[in-house]
Amino acid sequence: MRVHKIASIPADGIGPEVISAGLEALDALALRDGGFRLEVMHLDWGSERYKKTGIYIPEGGLDLLKTMDAIYFGAVGAVDVPDHISLWGLRLPIAQGFDLYANVRPTRILPGVESPLRDAGPGDLDWLIVRENSEGEYAGHGGRAHRGLPEEVATEVAIFTRVGVERIMRFAFDCARARPRKLLTVVTKSNAQRFGMVMWDEIAAEVAKDYPDVTWDKELVDAMTMRMVRKPRSIDTVVATNLHADILSDLAAALAGSLGVAPTGNVDPQRRFPSMFEPIHGSAFDITGKGIANPVASFWTAALMLEHLGERRAAAALMTAVEQVCAAGILTPDVGGKASTKEVTKAVVDAIRGYNFPV
Ligand code: NAD
Ligand code: MN
Repeated sequence: MRVHKIASIPADGIGPEVISAGLEALDALALRDGGFRLEVMHLDWGSERYKKTGIYIPEGGLDLLKTMDAIYFGAVGAVDVPDHISLWGLRLPIAQGFDLYANVRPTRILPGVESPLRDAGPGDLDWLIVRENSEGEYAGHGGRAHRGLPEEVATEVAIFTRVGVERIMRFAFDCARARPRKLLTVVTKSNAQRFGMVMWDEIAAEVAKDYPDVTWDKELVDAMTMRMVRKPRSIDTVVATNLHADILSDLAAALAGSLGVAPTGNVDPQRRFPSMFEPIHGSAFDITGKGIANPVASFWTAALMLEHLGERRAAAALMTAVEQVCAAGILTPDVGGKASTKEVTKAVVDAIRGYNFPV
């Protein structure tokens, strides 16, 4: 029996609602598959704990996480805590502390979910956006001087290192190679940004030599937004900087129908540390406690986590179950349905129980 140790950190808002739904589905999958078991460590790290104790991650917390195989994360953010405090208090210490440098964001229009693109239907927009997750525009380098005075100045410096760019480029080429179309688009802004972005282009061309079986092209980030809308079928795998991919993946989530279905993984491809998997959405204060949060993002997130743990068969089973339930119109209000979180979850668990695993 394969055993995988998972740290569950549901945290704030709808996080606990969607993560408990995901854990139910994972339990059902492990039973149905029969080949693996999950040992889940439940952690109550979040803004409530912060408001009581002044810290998000208790003493020794990161060391505890290091003993786990993966982290299943909900969302962090509370109405009465500034967002940069919650983000830098909980998510970033894990992502940066463990050097989870590859952020992967798959998109696909699920059956039953409508895209705002007129000609796009189920199965379209099958993209994988790879976001550099450790440096670039979010390196945290900068400062402010002469605050409040007319001569106030602020800098926000983007940092690009050869090591950082080369490792994300190799990861992206590996991802592209593993997908049927073997197609990669390298996104930069190397016409206007002459240093870091030109280095990206150069490193892309160098790394591409090791992947003769992968077709690749380059696109400037502004042109890429148009291509995503106008020629979505010309895209498969995409690699871009921390900021560019952040923006492109919100566009991708919107084009695929809803934030409520979009998953992401913060991955350490070298597996020195546990990788962290989370829905892209935040804590959604406006619907917290109403029982209508869409659990599909957290199911898809669980599928990414299972793939990372080597449980490909179970990951495929979970996505099949989710697609069946969506196709049957059992959807939450954000994607045009009337079902509750619990009803969608029950339908997915039932579909998993009835799933015939290929041998
Ligand atoms: P949000 O993702 O929480 O919500 C945006 C909109 O999408 C809301 O109307 C919400 O109801 C809807 N939505 C989101 N997820 C949904 C789901 N699963 N089902 C149905 N509807 C869903 O973004 P926001 O409002 O900008 O941020 C709220 C808080 O979450 C802030 O504190 C922010 O910092 C935090 N946040 C955290 C993360 C994270 O933990 N990774 C990501 C984004 C935002
Ligand atoms: Mn974002």
